[in-house]
Amino acid sequence: MFKAIQLQQSEQGTQAQVVSLNESDLPEADVQLDVLASTLNYKDGLAITGAAPVVRQWPMVPGIDLVGRVTNSASERFKSGDLVLLNGFGVGETHWGGLAEKASLKADWLIALPDGISPTDAMAVGTAGYTAMLCVLAIEKHGITPDKGEVLVTGAAGGVGSFAITLLNKLGYQVVASTGRAEEADYLKGLGASEVIDRASLSEKGKPLQRERWAAVVDCVGSHTLANACAATQYGGAVAACGLAQGMDFPSSVAPFILRGVTLYGIDSVMRPLADREQAWQRLAELLEAKDLADISRTISLDEAIGVAKDLLSNKVRGRVVVKIA
Ligand code: NDP
Repeated sequence: MFKAIQLQQSEQGTQAQVVSLNESDLPEADVQLDVLASTLNYKDGLAITGAAPVVRQWPMVPGIDLVGRVTNSASERFKSGDLVLLNGFGVGETHWGGLAEKASLKADWLIALPDGISPTDAMAVGTAGYTAMLCVLAIEKHGITPDKGEVLVTGAAGGVGSFAITLLNKLGYQVVASTGRAEEADYLKGLGASEVIDRASLSEKGKPLQRERWAAVVDCVGSHTLANACAATQYGGAVAACGLAQGMDFPSSVAPFILRGVTLYGIDSVMRPLADREQAWQRLAELLEAKDLADISRTISLDEAIGVAKDLLSNKVRGRVVVKIA
């Protein structure tokens, strides 16, 4: 038997509880593992509370991220005892995920845990940090160097935003953090933001072209915020769009793209090829120190995860939450 969070669908909506399951209940796949740590991302919050239709099969074990120790492998890529890392690939949505003591996963979804990062540190990073790194890699690849000017991070006090600030600051960029939580200004400055702005200044409909301010943008928010960010991006600048916390809509015009040569990069972490994942995680392991992760994250148990998932959706959670399992 092993412990897991299980989601069931009923007429009242999604019901989440901690249950005991048999190993024989696990889905068929070529790698079995003991989960050492998982985490709560925004998407896990949506799945656990049922606030959005993230879960596609019932019952579901949520958890889109995990680090585990392989106990059995039919794949040549992994052997018993290996430490592996999973982010996304529909796990926790269509296939049982990481908020459990055991998992059964496809080898094609797994990468080796990079050297120099512990299982709990990797989960402090999680999909949020890995997505922030993918955004930063897009900005770097575009040729935006720190001397080009300020970089805007929206949804700054969230998981992706917090990591984007930390990573950009370590790489020498001047970061402006947009948040709705003025009380988190000291936290955001501590991560490396040089200025904190009120997200209300970006969240309403604005002009299609605005004063050219941002050399680049990491946007976790979508909707008018993304439209305003694009409208105020410098000639030739880059906007990495990864989130939809304000909305899925994009009420913009083509003006920033055709008159200022702004490039909008769509950042997907879920189906990202393994080579990109390995590159992003290698950079994360190089750039982040244990202290950075301690500042950004806190640790909870599997039993606490359902309650904290609800807080996450009520915007009451700052930074990252690690769920320590073993
Ligand atoms: P969090 O919940 O930790 O952070 C989201 C942040 O967005 C909040 O902290 C808040 O920041 C801001 N926010 C919330 N509601 C609004 C609103 N109505 N208007 C403006 N800002 C708002 O989530 P994550 O950081 O984990 O994820 C951020 C986004 O990125 C989510 O939309 C998520 O679904 C998406 N995502 C996408 C991935 C991909 O592969 N593309 C991977 C991971 C996440 P503040 O309090 O500072 O204002």
